Amino acid sequence: MHSTASDGALTPTELLTLAAEKGLKELALTDHDTFAGLQEARTAARDFQIQLLEGMEFSCAWKGMTVHLVALWPQGLSEAAWEVARIQEEARWSRAEKILIKLAKADIHLTLDEVVAQAGGRVPGRPHFAACLIAGGHVKDQGQAFRKLLGAGKLGDVKNHWLELSDALSLLLSAGAFCSLAHPLRYKLTRSKRVRLIEAFAAAGGQGLEAVSGRQDVAQTASLMKLAATLNLQLSWGSDFHAPGPACPAPGAYATLPSACQPLSQLLA
Ligand code: AMP
Ligand code: MN
Repeated sequence: MHSTASDGALTPTELLTLAAEKGLKELALTDHDTFAGLQEARTAARDFQIQLLEGMEFSCAWKGMTVHLVALWPQGLSEAAWEVARIQEEARWSRAEKILIKLAKADIHLTLDEVVAQAGGRVPGRPHFAACLIAGGHVKDQGQAFRKLLGAGKLGDVKNHWLELSDALSLLLSAGAFCSLAHPLRYKLTRSKRVRLIEAFAAAGGQGLEAVSGRQDVAQTASLMKLAATLNLQLSWGSDFHAPGPACPAPGAYATLPSACQPLSQLLA
């Protein structure tokens, strides 16, 4: 799940409050490339007696495309994990500056200050750029911002920015993370290319495949589970919760957890 530490709508405390209302017992906070929400989340998780899994959704690159890894540190964050966060936050700041330059080429002049303000003072992500583009009247909504300017292959999609998948996995594994490939169905890939991505992820040491992400077709889940079994990947399950509202089901109200999916806490015990 995401919080205001990246592009989520709820602060970590608000997120844990909602999770507690919905009866959740375990929750992974995986903001994009940062641990900035975890300290607050720990306190709230303790108050609500929710088991908090600490992690981040790590951005990397595969064949020129941005791919996300769910990196979890069930044993808690190591020094090396904090170094990962430092590297990624720096990469996000430098990407933000590159996006500004790219947009200026389309005669859209935003300032870093206004984008950072949209991000609540933290490092901005593409949804914060989208918010500025909406505010400036350049696009009508977030969907259009990504379709026209920020999405894969568009002007504002900065190329060759993130670590390559295999280097990202080396870094994360050496920092003690459990790594699962996030939302494998969400990339713009043909089926065969998606299989190649998952194979490359497994070959580079990836440990898990997100068999379910948010709302998902059961046949597609079955096909991912089969592939995971072939490649010896564990299954993970992600809601990718960003905000209350129609776009995301409420916490705990997602597709049913496949029975082959074991809680990480059990798996590691
Ligand atoms: P970033 O991590 O800054 O590259 O931003 C990625 C985030 O942008 C994702 O987590 C989504 O919330 C959002 N996003 C990505 N693609 C789209 C899209 N096509 N339409 C709307 N939002 C998107
Ligand atoms: Mn993602």
